[in-house]
Amino acid sequence: MGEETILEVRNLTKYYPIHTGFFLKHTGDVKALDGVSFSVKKGRSIGIVGESGCGKSTLGKSIIRLHPSNSGTVYFNNIDFFSLSGEKLRKARQDIQMIFQDPFASLDPRMSISRIIKEPLNVNKIGTNKEKGDRIKELLHMVGLDLKSLNRYPHEFSGGQRQRVSIARCLATNPKLIIADEPVSALDVSVQAQILNLLLDLREKLGLTFVFVSHDLSVIDYVCEDVAVMYLGNIVEMAPKEALFNNPQHPYTKALIDTIPKVGEGKKLKRNHLKGEIASPINPPSGCKFHQRCGYCLDKCRIENPPLLKNGDHSVSCWLIEH
Ligand code: SF4
Repeated sequence: MGEETILEVRNLTKYYPIHTGFFLKHTGDVKALDGVSFSVKKGRSIGIVGESGCGKSTLGKSIIRLHPSNSGTVYFNNIDFFSLSGEKLRKARQDIQMIFQDPFASLDPRMSISRIIKEPLNVNKIGTNKEKGDRIKELLHMVGLDLKSLNRYPHEFSGGQRQRVSIARCLATNPKLIIADEPVSALDVSVQAQILNLLLDLREKLGLTFVFVSHDLSVIDYVCEDVAVMYLGNIVEMAPKEALFNNPQHPYTKALIDTIPKVGEGKKLKRNHLKGEIASPINPPSGCKFHQRCGYCLDKCRIENPPLLKNGDHSVSCWLIEH
């Protein structure tokens, strides 16, 4: 695995404006991303994890410019991805692709599987008709679908098979970086492992880099080498997987890890209780955004937001940590 940085996200901010009343006056913002920075080395997989509403899915969509960000920069292979337009943007987009959560919603029901996979080749003017046909067959084989699938339609497939089609479409342009947004959370538990194994296999064979967004730490544990934990629009802890799971430092990370079922425990236990619900991103708490739920809250935590600072292998945003 190379040590070259393929993706660098700097201070990414995304606010969704709220308009209310007859005149649709701008009355506030949903602060989905509030200054997110991280980088990914080529060939590695980083998991972005957190509860619903923490901003993790917005992060994936903002990186790929599906949702334009308010500020911040994304460098892909040392090129400012946000400054690209026209032909240069189209070319760069071939290298960054996304897998979505719900394969049924992301596949056009009126298009055959062959047309769905061919579309990115057409848009990017890749190959002759014969080369496109060969590439579609190769992609189907790579994702474990047989050639009989070519003339069938999405509704004729199971959820797992549809996600395989989405993966084939995503691989059509031979991308280097894949942003996978909850790619198995809409699937039956029995199928989830098959899709995760397929992604691991493809990563190995094709030397892919993954940004893997999931609410499920056990999924992240299975496929990623690095983990970033998000809370209300910020990364609160980031570390290599082993360091994060064996020695979590932020109280929120500790609480999340305590909710993973252990062998023999049966149900999920919450030994390190998370108090209450995640606050609203429209009106996040002052100071440390986690302070209302934190069992270790200090006076300072209510006033000042702790910066994300290095502490050994970890980067942590908490006043308890002496950096
Ligand atoms: Fe808890 Fe304070 Fe650390 Fe926030 S900064 S996680 S409130 S101890």
